[in-house]
Amino acid sequence: MSPAPSPALPSYDEAAAIVSAHAVEAAHRSPRIEHVELAISLGRVLAQPLYADRDQPPFARSTRDGFACRASEASKHEFLNLAGQSRAGDAPAAPLPKGHAWEIMTGAPIPPGSDAVLMIEHVETSGKKVRLLPPRTVKPGENIVEQGAQAREGDELLPVGSAIHAGQIALAATCGHSALDVFAKPRVAILTTGDELVPVNASPGPGQIRNSNGPMLAALVAAAGGEPWVLPTAADNPEALDSLLAEAVAADLLLISGGVSAGKFDLVEPALARAGARFHFTGVRIQPGKPLVFGELPYSHTDANQDQNGTKHFFGLPGNPVSSAVTFLLFATPILGALSGRHDSGPRFALARLRAEAGKLAKSDLTRFLPASCSFSATTSQLPEVELVPWAGSGDLAALARSNCFLVLPEGSGRLEAGAIVRILLT
Ligand code: AMP
Ligand code: MG
Repeated sequence: MSPAPSPALPSYDEAAAIVSAHAVEAAHRSPRIEHVELAISLGRVLAQPLYADRDQPPFARSTRDGFACRASEASKHEFLNLAGQSRAGDAPAAPLPKGHAWEIMTGAPIPPGSDAVLMIEHVETSGKKVRLLPPRTVKPGENIVEQGAQAREGDELLPVGSAIHAGQIALAATCGHSALDVFAKPRVAILTTGDELVPVNASPGPGQIRNSNGPMLAALVAAAGGEPWVLPTAADNPEALDSLLAEAVAADLLLISGGVSAGKFDLVEPALARAGARFHFTGVRIQPGKPLVFGELPYSHTDANQDQNGTKHFFGLPGNPVSSAVTFLLFATPILGALSGRHDSGPRFALARLRAEAGKLAKSDLTRFLPASCSFSATTSQLPEVELVPWAGSGDLAALARSNCFLVLPEGSGRLEAGAIVRILLT
């Protein structure tokens, strides 16, 4: 028998839409701007558009090793006299005389008057002469990139909000930027809760476990472009939670781990309510991660420089490590991205082919995200292949660590055949 539906809770799509609407709002809070060296700008977000400082490419250049010529002359297959040679780095040559060709290397400027480059593989040379081998002909523009073909001086090449990866660093370098204006990273408070938790370097006593969500969430935050701020673990009592929440609300975003289920010592929701929280949802029809809580806490702060009045978004993440990781990826990344000033952020889904039958899955009214391992390197002609990682439930950290994605099972789906095309959530 399938479990009773939970109609009061939003579905994954509904909860994602609620979070998206708040991400749009969060994007209006313009972060501070920092100036950082290009070499350490990886993962940051552009706070100024990137403009072309000159035409790109800055001169018409050859894309091949070969011979610059006039296409109409070369296509007659008569020998052309070689007038000279240019290599990459040489200044543009003098105009090409009629009936001549010019030896040229990849990246070298095209001599004025020429309109095509013959590939070295397509010609016959004889002393200081060259001709295009018949029956091949050549058209004007072949093997040449015109000056400004990619961009004109002053063009906006990247808008504000672009995430900086290797390609953006290359573009900035080619435009002469040795440093960039980027947005300050949002500070994300990580507040783990639970009487059973001890720090990683302590020996757990009977009934105790090491706090793994603290380091995991710090890593997820850093990878998503935030600045993790790990607070001391809160014990499961109202006083500890109240005082640490009061501290944590100074952050740009709050992640609270644990204490949001229905247990007697799940005290996080009442503590948030005492701190004046507005709840946007308290639970989502997903597994793992069903108890996820999302809302805003009021915040006001006055000092000599600024007067801040507003709210801070928070997520109450279920304490089970796999639940914490999944709910972070699904719901915290869009808000964190918006607070970082990014114009594109949030969970990344892809399609993959299921390697082996997933037979033991009962039907569920929840959208499920199951730890899975995807091989992205099979071939270029086939979809990536994914398989489930055996796991013993949402506390199974070893399964999480052996996975590199989550298999998405929509509401109502059960058993899947080998070869089925499925959606995966990338980590
Ligand atoms: P909770 O959400 O507080 O009910 O916790 C659910 C499960 O996750 C329990 O087994 C907790 O011991 C475990 N858990 C909670 N917080 C953490 C944490 N920071 N690191 C590792 N496990 C945790
Ligand atoms: Mg707990």
